[in-house]
Amino acid sequence: HAKNQGRNTFQFFTPEFNHWVTERLRIENGLRHALARNEMRLHFQPQVSLATRRIVGCEALLRWQPTEGELVMPDRFIPVAEETGLIVPIGHWVLEQACRQLARWDAEGGAPIRMAVNVAVPQLRQPDFVDSVRQALQQAGLAPGRLEIEVTESVLLDKDERISRTLEGLLALGTKLSLDDFGTGYASLSYLRNFRFDVLKIDRSFVSELHRNEADIKLIRAIISIARDLSLQTVAEGVESEAQLEILQELGCNLGQGYHFSRPVPADQLGELMRGEREA
Ligand code: C2E
Ligand code: MG
Ligand code: MG
Ligand code: MG
Repeated sequence: HAKNQGRNTFQFFTPEFNHWVTERLRIENGLRHALARNEMRLHFQPQVSLATRRIVGCEALLRWQPTEGELVMPDRFIPVAEETGLIVPIGHWVLEQACRQLARWDAEGGAPIRMAVNVAVPQLRQPDFVDSVRQALQQAGLAPGRLEIEVTESVLLDKDERISRTLEGLLALGTKLSLDDFGTGYASLSYLRNFRFDVLKIDRSFVSELHRNEADIKLIRAIISIARDLSLQTVAEGVESEAQLEILQELGCNLGQGYHFSRPVPADQLGELMRGEREA
């Protein structure tokens, strides 16, 4: 079967490959106009303190709703945006919108929660990235410590000096730095010493079987212990049940994020959740 022969063989014009190319071109072309057509949306997922069960932060997650067509999730278009460089203007928009939204919640009398924003490697290569972050914060009137930049382990393996310069710049600016999807990449633990991260996000794959898998409990315990030694806050991703939450709390994990608390929701809905907390 052609599909099983893989993309490295010379079977270029199989129906599957044609389909893949067409699909990919469609996404690429659509993405070029997405911002101008106002098709991008941010959803926000709360991060909850496991000790107090209160919302102390949120993560901005991008959604693409083409004028014609159905909603596209980030796993389908972010890789294309990264390869084409379109992630740079899109990511800039995300930063501005996320900061603006945080300022809006502040104005509504919300607690000073933190806003986490995912940032891709091509953005970190831009020499003016730190400036654009500073500007987004200034425009919104926010202290840099309210913003958390999430990067993945791939950043630790990248030898590009522009990236380390950007991370240094962010540190100097005073934003928080978070290591996303921890444990899934190939970076050695020792890389954690190279940059001063503030937050370590334990990947969902370690959390999902937690309540019935002793090995995952051991792994998470070890990750939390390392994080503590390095003075990093821990966030567990993909918390879907009370059982998982209780184990995480026992293990000393600081924050949780996942469907158990809330799915990623539009800004108004998260505002509503926070208002509910204030009135409780
Ligand atoms: P991520 O940063 O690791 O975000 C967490 C993902 O897990 C989100 O998927 C979220 O909806 C999902 N999730 C949260 N809680 C649960 C849960 O309890 N169970 C399950 N099964 N899933 C949960 P989403 O929104 O589809 O985003 C996927 C990825 O796309 C993100 O992973 C991030 O790497 C990337 N992404 C999203 N927005 C942006 C952005 O603005 N810029 C960049 N560069 N990447 C983004
Ligand atoms: Mg993330
Ligand atoms: Mg993650
Ligand atoms: Mg991810």
